[in-house]
Amino acid sequence: NLRQNNFSAGPGALPTEVLEEVRDDFPVFAGLGASIVEVSHRSGAYTEIHERAKSRLASLLGLGDDWHVLFLQGGASMQFHQVPLNLMPRGGTVSYLDTGSWSAKAIKEAEIVARDRDGTVTVAASSRDADYTYIPRPSEWTVDPEAAYLHFTSNNTIYGTQFHEEPICDVPLVCDMSSDFLSRPIDPKKYGLIYAGAQKNIGPAGVTAVLVRDDVLQSRAEGLPTMLDYGTHAAKLFNTPPVFAIYIVDKVLGWVERQGGLKGMVERNEAKVSRLYGALDASDFYRPTVREDSRSHMNVTFRLPNEDLEARFIQDAAREGLLALKGYRTVGGVRASIYNAVEPRSVELLVEFMRRFEAAYG
Ligand code: PLP
Repeated sequence: NLRQNNFSAGPGALPTEVLEEVRDDFPVFAGLGASIVEVSHRSGAYTEIHERAKSRLASLLGLGDDWHVLFLQGGASMQFHQVPLNLMPRGGTVSYLDTGSWSAKAIKEAEIVARDRDGTVTVAASSRDADYTYIPRPSEWTVDPEAAYLHFTSNNTIYGTQFHEEPICDVPLVCDMSSDFLSRPIDPKKYGLIYAGAQKNIGPAGVTAVLVRDDVLQSRAEGLPTMLDYGTHAAKLFNTPPVFAIYIVDKVLGWVERQGGLKGMVERNEAKVSRLYGALDASDFYRPTVREDSRSHMNVTFRLPNEDLEARFIQDAAREGLLALKGYRTVGGVRASIYNAVEPRSVELLVEFMRRFEAAYG
């Protein structure tokens, strides 16, 4: 009944010490005589958690007072629609970088909004023709200078690619950071809005962090449905938030702080990814699937010589306590997701297993 080495892409691993803290705190929250999910979301106890989670997030990312931190529901997928619904001007343009299935889904939702607004969605660059195995270089982009924003997916969970530089352009960036949120520092000045489903790096599914700069918020469309209007949530706690998820997010943020914040996360993540890619590069048996300059530090994707060996690899690994290594269903191969909480020791065990597997079948 031991916790094992969890390489799941999403929901992904959470820090064991956080789960143990939740287990201990959960049934009776200090002084309440009840758990935190059984009391009003307007209570002092919950308000403290909610506000602390917001301020921890803002301070970890270095967001100034001109930012709003919102905890919304509907997943990152809801943001694919909510972003253009709020931020696409009537008759205006928005621009997207198409670097994977999640980007493509975001583009599709923007096109739905554009139909009602006489708007235009331009794709500034796409790596679809090469099965999304790389991030197009900035010299290959055409960003519409009139665009209200440029949307990109900082880490492509399915394909295992990641932007290693924040896009430089004259329009505000909107970023889906779901799968590398809080894994490294960012430069907030470049962004107008950032969103991330919690379930990879910061907590359980059920809450989506949406960070929006005030001037961008103020530019939003009018007459939106109340729940889909960012302004509703920026003004006040409008309805019952996903209390349990936010309670855990707050604890995970505390854990990130104790690890040295985002600087600590970068060191931890770089050690893991260089160990794993180091092993892949040193072998002819394992074949990384993405272009070297685009390798994700969160999702490491690779192939073996054939699908039978891949199936055996995934099965044998699971028997040794190395879980969830199967690639995304439409892509195949092996994917090791090494989010913030995955322990360096788990990566070490994976690398040792890979060596033994290659010796047996290579
Ligand atoms: N964006 C990225 C980068 C993702 O990895 C995912 C889910 O895996 C999503 C969006 C969709 O998120 P959700 O399931 O919260 O809607």
